[in-house]
Amino acid sequence: MTIIEVAVAGPFLTPLSYLLDSTATAALPVVGGRVRVPFRSKSLVGVVMAVQTFVDEQALQAGCAALSLNLKKLKSIEAVLDTAPLFSAKDMELLKWASFYYHEPIGNVMQTALPKRLRQGEVPEVEGVTSWVLAPQSIRETLPPLPANAKQQLALIDCLSESQALSAEHLNAQLNHWRTPMKRLLDLGWVQETTSPCLNWHSKLTRPGHILNAEQQVAVDAVDFDKGYQAFLLEGITGSGKTEVYLGMIERCLHLGKQVLVLVPEIGLTPQTVQRFEAYLQQPVAVMHSGLNDKERQCAWWLVQSGRVQVLLGTRSAVFTPFANLGLCIMDEEHDLSFKQQDGFRYSARDCLVRRAHLEKVPVVLGSATPSLESLYNAQTQRYAWLKLQQRAAGAQLPNVQLLDIRGEKLAEGVSTPLRKLMAQHLADQGQVLLFLNRRGFAPVLMCHDCGWQAACPSCDANMTYHQQVNELRCHHCGYQHKAPHTCPHCQSAEFVKVGQGTERLEETIQSWFPEESLLRIDADTTRLKGQMAELTQQAKEGKARILIGTQMLAKGHHFPQVTLVGLLDIDQGLFSSDFRAAERMAQLIVQVSGRAGRAEKTGTVMIQTHHPEHPLLKTLVAEGYEAFAKQALLGREEAGLPPYEYQILIRAEAIDAQAGWQFLNEIKFSLQSLKPTLLAQASSQVNAQVMGPVAAPMMRRQGRYRYQLLLQSNHRGTLHQWLGQVESRIYASKLTAKVRWSIDVDPQEM
Ligand code: ADP
Ligand code: ZN
Ligand code: ZN
Repeated sequence: MTIIEVAVAGPFLTPLSYLLDSTATAALPVVGGRVRVPFRSKSLVGVVMAVQTFVDEQALQAGCAALSLNLKKLKSIEAVLDTAPLFSAKDMELLKWASFYYHEPIGNVMQTALPKRLRQGEVPEVEGVTSWVLAPQSIRETLPPLPANAKQQLALIDCLSESQALSAEHLNAQLNHWRTPMKRLLDLGWVQETTSPCLNWHSKLTRPGHILNAEQQVAVDAVDFDKGYQAFLLEGITGSGKTEVYLGMIERCLHLGKQVLVLVPEIGLTPQTVQRFEAYLQQPVAVMHSGLNDKERQCAWWLVQSGRVQVLLGTRSAVFTPFANLGLCIMDEEHDLSFKQQDGFRYSARDCLVRRAHLEKVPVVLGSATPSLESLYNAQTQRYAWLKLQQRAAGAQLPNVQLLDIRGEKLAEGVSTPLRKLMAQHLADQGQVLLFLNRRGFAPVLMCHDCGWQAACPSCDANMTYHQQVNELRCHHCGYQHKAPHTCPHCQSAEFVKVGQGTERLEETIQSWFPEESLLRIDADTTRLKGQMAELTQQAKEGKARILIGTQMLAKGHHFPQVTLVGLLDIDQGLFSSDFRAAERMAQLIVQVSGRAGRAEKTGTVMIQTHHPEHPLLKTLVAEGYEAFAKQALLGREEAGLPPYEYQILIRAEAIDAQAGWQFLNEIKFSLQSLKPTLLAQASSQVNAQVMGPVAAPMMRRQGRYRYQLLLQSNHRGTLHQWLGQVESRIYASKLTAKVRWSIDVDPQEM
């Protein structure tokens, strides 16, 4: 007599209960393994959260009563899919924590942690194609020679090569007997075995001969693997060699026979990164990112889960991958917004990673040149140990950063005369110039010259951006696009003005100024197709184009060693946004873009055009650097009672009906208010809690839906979660959910 609690995807606040009919299913379900269960008319795959066994019918009835289950209504599970857990007890703890903390149904959280094929009920093992390569020359030299009479082994060695792996199919075509000699050669070390489809391991990669500098060595040695959980903030200026430090730490962990999880932003996971890791570590690295197909994803998952691969390099969702024997967690560019899931199950991979390290009792390292204010605060308050890299590894100089006061300056297409002169000078000196403008397209507004009509998106509260190359209007918020009109829909005039700057227009202008120079524009429009991004950045790196124009895509991870001048054209909106995090983002962007310059022997110059050279945050950033900026910004947050000093949860609601979202949030607000006195009475007297709104979202209408938001805030995290937890079931039960799309965003990154 057994009741099985199963997490299935859907709006269920708790797992669903099923009976185990031992006559129908021979295998026994295990916690952390999958089962197939009936739900309404469907059959679903879910993960077993608990198994409760009762000695007899009577105990079962009592058990059901205690769980307020109606025994007669319980259905039986259809099949047991795993007889060994896919998730260990620690994995389960992490996933349950994430469900609790992000107020996301456990079934949805479990789904995020499983590759699609496993969600569909496939077996976890991947039938990879096994293939073999000769061990590298350096290893073969150290081996005793094979006896001359080992004919089959020698013939096999002749067949294999060091650079190309051969599969059984290949070998069958060339040799009659190779399995037995292959086994022997593997044992002796002459041959290495690899498994595709998800590993692309080339044993021929040579390990770079870098010797860590003193700062790097200190950082690598700071991790004490005997100490259990410990969090580190690795703050290293761009080019200081943070990756080298990660690799040193990883190597130490691998020596202890443990696995490593490394998370990087989506844009940072290039084949070059993977190769850099494999070359240094001299072993295959599994990767997980959005470009994989279902089979590759499953393969990587399985190799890590079963302990066949020691290192996983992945993006956001890889944080939930189960490991056989995890020993170290690393996150590069920890400030990056791509670590926050912005729809569905809205989690912060950074916070989940730290939590995971805590549960697994292993070290975690968060690295960045521009750490988030949250992480800096944790370092300041000694929750994280603070490691710093203050020199550029390859000896290059830091760029010289200056504010360019453009008040009253004549601007030609957004570029001031001093900047234009500087460009000419750097180009004449054989430098490479990078111009940064975070707006793609030709112009953000298309306006009728006679009546002032503006092209607006029919579904959003936003203008359509004019794209000249395709002569189209495009909404950057919902993707709606159509041909640009010949005449004004309002007054039939054929005269339009294109207002404002986009990268396309900048490209046209700059090319007309410097017709002799080659120019490359890198933005979402020029890198739409697979492989284009890699190709363009490669060209940029090699210095093939003298002038680079880019959006924030260019601010991350890429090194352009020949760039000597960086111009930032328009950063002022970051100073006066309604989003309190805008200044932090602006500062990170400035520092990251500046870091692209002068990475090699040439010292770089960075020019920031601004109408607000007196702005205190901007001044501090330029005069004293990011850390001083961050200190000042944190003071401002403290005074204003904002994160990380207070905790926030945002509830969003949107509907086609203009009122429904607002009503829905008002219902929630009412419930919250009624619970508040008891909540605060139970908490200590220092605890505060407020609910603010509902208010219209910054862009009230988007994709045809009216959007509102409700903000919960408290200086005590536990109280905040308890408060929301008390109304959760009412939210799910609201009749308005039929009309309203809603979501809970814990620690929201964007307001
Ligand atoms: P970051 O991630 O901090 O911007 P990287 O780790 O990418 O920096 O290193 C920047 C460059 O410096 C890379 O080309 C790297 O190979 C080189 N580098 C880093 N550390 C060393 C070292 N100790 N000796 C020589 N070159 C190094
Ligand atoms: Zn008009
Ligand atoms: Zn739109």
